[in-house]
Amino acid sequence: MGRLGIKERIKKGLFLLDGAMGTQLIARGVEVGKCNDYLNIDSPDTISSIHKDYFEAGSDAVLTNTFGANKYALARHGLSEEVTRINTTGAQIARKAAGEEKYVLGDIGPSGDFLQPLGALKPDELKNAFAEQAKALLASGVDGFIIETMTALDEIAIAIEAVKSVCELPVFASMAFDSTGEDFKTMMGVDVETAVTRIISLGVDAIGFNCGKMSLDNYIRLAAKYASAVQNSEQDIVLLAEPNAGLPELVEGQAVYEVPPADFAAAVEKIHSAGVNIIGGCCGTGPAHIEAVGKKLR
Ligand SMILES: [Zn+2]
Repeated sequence: MGRLGIKERIKKGLFLLDGAMGTQLIARGVEVGKCNDYLNIDSPDTISSIHKDYFEAGSDAVLTNTFGANKYALARHGLSEEVTRINTTGAQIARKAAGEEKYVLGDIGPSGDFLQPLGALKPDELKNAFAEQAKALLASGVDGFIIETMTALDEIAIAIEAVKSVCELPVFASMAFDSTGEDFKTMMGVDVETAVTRIISLGVDAIGFNCGKMSLDNYIRLAAKYASAVQNSEQDIVLLAEPNAGLPELVEGQAVYEVPPADFAAAVEKIHSAGVNIIGGCCGTGPAHIEAVGKKLR
């Protein structure tokens, strides 16, 4: 039996992504602060084993280990010339782990710099950088793209346009919201309604949120808020959520997430009930969290 295309598949109920990559690297003894994306070249077996763990845990799709593999983020490790190699290899590793039946999403994260006038980044240069990354991921056979952990609306819009300029594959777009008490905003001050309206207008296939520094109760509230914003837009679009495993606690200067898989799955069940079909985990989540979600929701 052949697979459905992602666009059809994500409308047919739960589509389970993977959990964190960074958390699993730390668990395997990888040094914090090194370039995780370069492990595609340096230690492909490590990356491959993490993808395989997630597929065994029930993920329908994994994200390529390329979150920081744009020119600007790689420049911080002196690796700005390695964009194509890191992304090509990352997509190959994930494709091999996924086989024919499972899916691979090319992962695109923020540049880490500010656009003009706040910073020095020019929109067309940023677009070229994301297009460079997307081309390399595309060439190695990803099934679609996920642009995530974005906090600036202009930057996520540019990333979406860049991906769309190189292919017609499905695009998921996700921003990182924090709780402001009553409401939710990204670090750059974007609210949910503004994000939903602008991102939908760019023609993505799924829209959502990931990696906020907040409790799972707040993720549940945010899911409801997203669902009503999407409903108001009257567009047929799938919702996505990748919560962290709750709030981090600082242990010896490192963020540690303590929410156990069963509690994570209980919160995710409520997020799913709010109308979110695409679900994965961000910081602090591992294969056990994904497995718990799959068991509870399938
Ligand atoms: Zn995260």
